[in-house]
Amino acid sequence: MGCKISTEFCADNPVASTSKVHPSDLATSSLPIKPVEFYDPPQPVNNDQIFRKVSLTKKESKEKETRRISLQVEPKKVKRSSRREYLDFPEFATSSHKVFIAELYHGKSTAKWNFQVIPMLTTFFSSSYTRIQRSKNTASRRFSIDTSRAKSNQFVVSLCAKKIGIIEYPEGRPDKQPSDVYWHNVVLSDMNKIVTSPHSKVNKFPGMTELAKKISLTHAISSMQKLFPDEYAFYPKSWFLPAHLTDFHTYYRKCQAAGKMEMWFIVKPDEGAQGTGIYLISNPSQIRDVDQQQLVQEYIADPMLMGDKLKFDFRVYGVIKSINPLSIYVAREGMARFCTEKYEKPDSSNFKNLYAHLTNYSLNKANEAYVHSNTLQDQTKGSKRLLSTVFHQLESRGIKTKKLWHDIKLILVKTTLAMLPEIMLHYEHHFYDSPGPQCFQIMGFDVMIRDDGTPILLEVNAAPSLTADHVVPYPGRSLTEGGQRVRSIVDEVIKMPLVRDTLLLIFPTRYGAHSGHLLFLDKAMYIYMQFVQLRNNVNITGAGLKQFVRKCNLADVMPIAQVDVKVAEINYYFTGDRQASGNGLPFHAFLMFLFFVAEKKFHMESDLLAKVQRLLSFCDMSLRHYGVRSARLRRAEVDSSIGNVEIYMLPSRMARNRSGRYGQKEMDANNNPNSFSHLPRITERL
Ligand code: ADP
Repeated sequence: MGCKISTEFCADNPVASTSKVHPSDLATSSLPIKPVEFYDPPQPVNNDQIFRKVSLTKKESKEKETRRISLQVEPKKVKRSSRREYLDFPEFATSSHKVFIAELYHGKSTAKWNFQVIPMLTTFFSSSYTRIQRSKNTASRRFSIDTSRAKSNQFVVSLCAKKIGIIEYPEGRPDKQPSDVYWHNVVLSDMNKIVTSPHSKVNKFPGMTELAKKISLTHAISSMQKLFPDEYAFYPKSWFLPAHLTDFHTYYRKCQAAGKMEMWFIVKPDEGAQGTGIYLISNPSQIRDVDQQQLVQEYIADPMLMGDKLKFDFRVYGVIKSINPLSIYVAREGMARFCTEKYEKPDSSNFKNLYAHLTNYSLNKANEAYVHSNTLQDQTKGSKRLLSTVFHQLESRGIKTKKLWHDIKLILVKTTLAMLPEIMLHYEHHFYDSPGPQCFQIMGFDVMIRDDGTPILLEVNAAPSLTADHVVPYPGRSLTEGGQRVRSIVDEVIKMPLVRDTLLLIFPTRYGAHSGHLLFLDKAMYIYMQFVQLRNNVNITGAGLKQFVRKCNLADVMPIAQVDVKVAEINYYFTGDRQASGNGLPFHAFLMFLFFVAEKKFHMESDLLAKVQRLLSFCDMSLRHYGVRSARLRRAEVDSSIGNVEIYMLPSRMARNRSGRYGQKEMDANNNPNSFSHLPRITERL
């Protein structure tokens, strides 16, 4: 059986997975481009606050930068408890992923709790979130970033790197040493040749470009829609052509038979972007080329409109910090893109007017009615606005923006969960012969709001634009006659903090760097958990220990017959009681047992830490034969001789019955070391 197992699975790197950054770090050092004071819009932004800030900073613009920082508007006083939300996802609890949503909350020197962390599942780490205060001293070690393949991202990335003290190598490192971070503008197929060190981080997941394309995304969401129809109702009904043409016809006829005459669909080429090749139809016979790979989607004809009657949608940015454990951050600031002509429900007279139906910047900028914004005041009426501004505008129209934002975050999480299996698969596939670096990625989620306030996901962008400039027409002329490239204030306000906070997010802080290596015993805990009857006890019994020794193939150094003697000895050490313990050994007593076994089995190693590390890896390997029981152990195993891929999925450890308690069935299934057979095993032919 040819097993390929990588020892590092993305953010398995303990340093990276535990570090939490406090963005007040951001309010330091030189602020590279103007207008820096705009970088921290609170959410939702109150326009008065923006204006006040602008006027203050104008007045003080000649002052020193530190002065400017102190003039920043005080963040809205929100009670810490009220800014924390808990999401309950019983249906996703079948995975032992820890899912964090935190909001990148931009550079408040006074804010204490800038990241909003929402642990979706109770795992061992979910409570270990620590607030990290800014260090007075700069980090002792300077990190490096290779931007030689960042292309259009380079401007923003390079400024952010400079701002937070990361050394940039725009041409790659001359000394050929690996950089700490590689920033690419697209997913490169030879990423494994460029990023060779498992300690490096790279801003793209392999395969993500493909996975985020319209058809792949629809596949991923459709699977989830079949399993959780209500949870995934946020994605419009879709058909991929040519394969689903008959289904589409059948659906159309069914609707007609049910008396639904006014139906509109939107046709999008799979490879398309920026609105190219998109058109509206009201009848399947209007599809231009039925043999082309494309997506036909139910057209959402009731978008929410504001006073100007222009259709708009949001680009919300999510950062997938790691996939194991799954850790997603949602940027609090985003973009709202507006159409340039008034919206009316599609009909035969207006369905070709894409300026009213599509919100794409690249399309609308060609329209004379496009409103460029040169200041933050302008953008409140511009064609491209801050998400927070529009939220504020919606709020003043009576929309419950808190709920809306909550629902949007759920869409981001659910969509990422739908894409996750394939992200993992691509990662393992791409780095099948190497440990692989830690990947992270900024994703753009396009979300439109229905008239009734429900958000709808339109598409996911694996490489959202990170440019911070735009072309504006010369005065009195149209853009078709050329224009001038100028900085876009709206883009700066959104993208600078996004990139800067993402960089901060992936680097260990002072605390993470100093103590990341201490995150180590969780591995022992995962093993321990598998041999404890958690329903009854948190201690491991003698019988559990014997199972552990047997399943982990340790009987050569710890004969089964001697386990009871050892347990009694350790028990005495812990309780002072010479009688054999009926309650079993607590975790730290189990650790003592582990240390003892490690000393015997790996005596050639120099110190206890190395011995225990070896033992834990050995146990992981041994336990794989019985099915994988924790996220850390999950691996795709490839049997090359018969061409099968076996993916061991996780047991539904967290499944609860109605009373909120663990069901007997799940408990037996998950915690009885004799019953490994329940573990779902997916075997596919390659
Ligand atoms: P592209 O990748 O080419 O930008 P999108 O799927 O984002 O393609 O669609 C472009 C625009 O069309 C969106 O920004 C939105 O304004 C509009 N749109 C897309 N799908 C729908 C839909 N199902 N209902 C209503 N409007 C849509």
